[in-house]
Amino acid sequence: MDKMMVTRGQRAFLCLLVILLLFSAQPLEAAPGAEGIIIHVVERGETLSVIASRYGTTVDAIVQANGIANPNLIYVGQRLTIPAQGTVAPEESYVVRLGDTLGGIAHRFGTTVSAIAQANDISNPSLIYPGQRLIIPPGVQQPSELPTPTQVHVVRPGEYLSQIARLYGTTVWALAVANDLANPSLIYPGQRLVIPTRSATLPFPISAVEFVPPRVAQGHTLLLRVRAEGEVSLAGSIDGQSLTFTGAGGEYWALAGFPPWSEPGAHPWSIVATDNQGRSVEASGYVLVTAAEFPIQYIDLPPEREGLLDPELVQAEWARVKALFVQVTPSKLWRGRSLVPVEGEVSSVFGTRRSYEGGPVASYHMGVDYAAPEGAPVVAANSGRIALAEELTVRGGTVIIDHGLGVHSGYFHLSGIAVVPGQEVERGTLIGYVGSTGLATGAHLHWEMRIGEIGVDPTEWTARAIPE
Ligand SMILES: [Zn+2]
Repeated sequence: MDKMMVTRGQRAFLCLLVILLLFSAQPLEAAPGAEGIIIHVVERGETLSVIASRYGTTVDAIVQANGIANPNLIYVGQRLTIPAQGTVAPEESYVVRLGDTLGGIAHRFGTTVSAIAQANDISNPSLIYPGQRLIIPPGVQQPSELPTPTQVHVVRPGEYLSQIARLYGTTVWALAVANDLANPSLIYPGQRLVIPTRSATLPFPISAVEFVPPRVAQGHTLLLRVRAEGEVSLAGSIDGQSLTFTGAGGEYWALAGFPPWSEPGAHPWSIVATDNQGRSVEASGYVLVTAAEFPIQYIDLPPEREGLLDPELVQAEWARVKALFVQVTPSKLWRGRSLVPVEGEVSSVFGTRRSYEGGPVASYHMGVDYAAPEGAPVVAANSGRIALAEELTVRGGTVIIDHGLGVHSGYFHLSGIAVVPGQEVERGTLIGYVGSTGLATGAHLHWEMRIGEIGVDPTEWTARAIPE
C-alpha cells in the first residue's frame, strides 16, 4: 500500500515537472520573432559568455542589446534580448571546470589540444585552471561525423543539467527524457548521462539499431534488434557481455541480461556487421540502465544447513553451473511466453537482497521462489534440452534447461527429478517435484532465468514473449 502511494506521488511530481520544463525550454527553442530577436530567460548557473556562445553571439552584443551595466550581474529568470544572429561570427567558448584537461575539452568539441592552445595563447597545455574561459576554434572533426550514435557525459562536481545540455547543443528536456531523470536538478558527480543526438549515423549496411525496452531496468532482459541492408553476420557486446545474434534477411536480434547490481546509467554496446564479401563495419553507442528497487530479506537457516554457506563450497558449485550457463546452443529452442513452472505464491521476488544468519546484506536472490507443498509438480517454463538433472549440495535437486542462444532456466531444491540430461522437453513437460533440498528453509521452488551467466527476472519471461 505504502509503495503505491509513493509511486503515485512520484508520478504527480513528474507530470508537474514536465510542464515546468516545457515552459522553461520554450524561450530557448523559440524561432526568431518578427523583429528577428530571441528572448532568453536566464537559468541557474548561466553566465553571459555561456549564453552568448549558445546563440552564436558575443557577450558585448548581449550587453549592448540589454543595456547591462555589469556583465557579471545577471540573475535567474532575467529576460535577455538576444541580438539577431549573422551579425557576428559564432564563436564557441568554454569555461574550464575542476578536473578538466585540455585533452578532454578538445575531444568533447571535436578539435585538438594544439588548436585550443594556439587559439588561447596557452604555452603549457597542462596549466589550465577552473573558471578560465577558453575560445574553442572550429572543430577539425564535426561531432555529427562521428560513427557513434550517442555519447556519454560523466557529470563533474558542480555541474548543472542546463550546462551539460548547452555543452552538447541539446536541451534539459531531451536529457531528462533520455536519462529517465525524475528530477533534473538531482544529478550527481560521476553519474553517466546519455547525450541524445538528433541524427544518429550508422555505417552502411547497418540501417537501424533498436532496443526493447528503450531503457532497461536493473535485473532485466534487453532485446537488441538490428536491421541491415542485405544479409550480414553480426557479432557484438554490451557491457563486455558478448551477444549471440540470430535472424536472416537483414533482420537480426540478440538478448542481453543486466544483473541487479549493474550501475544505473549509460552502458556501452558495440556491434560488428560483416557482409558476404567479408567487409566489416562497426557501430557503437550506449544503452541506459535504470534503477530498480530490491527488497531486503533476513534469513535464518536451520543449524544443520549452516555448513552449506561455506564459501568454497558455494564457489565450486557456482563454477559448475556457470560453465553450463555460458554454453551457447546456436538455435532458439524456446517459443513464445514462458509458463510459471509451479502452482504457488511467490515467497521471494527476484533480486531480493539477502542477509543470512544476521550477517551483512551481501547477496542478491537470483531467482523467484514459489512456496508450494513438498511433491507438487514442477514443469518446464519453456521448451529446450535438459542440460543438468542431479542433486547438488547448495541447490539441492536441480534441473537446468538449455533454451538455446545462451538462455537457460534453473529449477532448484527439488525433492525428485523426472528428466535426464540430453532429454528434449516442451513447455509444460513435468521435470520434477517441489522439495526443500540443499540451501532451503522449507518446501519451495527456486526458479531462475539466465542469459549467459547473468541472472534476470524470470517473471518478465512469463509476462510477454521474448522477443515479441
Ligand atoms: Zn530462491
